[in-house]
Amino acid sequence: MENNRSFYNEILTEHNINPFHKHEIEGANLELRGVNPSCGDEITLKLKVENDKIVDAGYVGDGCAISQASADMMIDLVLGKTKDEALNYANIFLKMIKGEASLEEIESLEEAGALQDISHMPARVKCAVLSWHTLEELFDVE
Ligand code: ZN
Repeated sequence: MENNRSFYNEILTEHNINPFHKHEIEGANLELRGVNPSCGDEITLKLKVENDKIVDAGYVGDGCAISQASADMMIDLVLGKTKDEALNYANIFLKMIKGEASLEEIESLEEAGALQDISHMPARVKCAVLSWHTLEELFDVE
């Protein structure tokens, strides 16, 4: 448990100090802003999709550590994937936050799996899911 917690803190810190994907995307052809008013988080996802594949992706925005790290880890995962693969990850992530994902599914999320404990922190759930819901909306899936 303690190891898990420090891993969680380490990942959140790392993605906030050195976000890999927090930047504009040249030639982005899909873009959507998501907001979480209860915390003041906002994220604009920017994707460049060609032949159903996410060839480039980034985000800009502001908010708490969880919302920003979650967006950064999500883009790590979906970059280079097809729309369906990306939506499948979003589905697993949202299941994980509800405490319904299997261990195998959580492992498939790689670093984003570190956010599994958020399911026990109701006040932070909206922060963690913001970017993933925005991704679903961007692809027009509810
Ligand atoms: Zn937040």
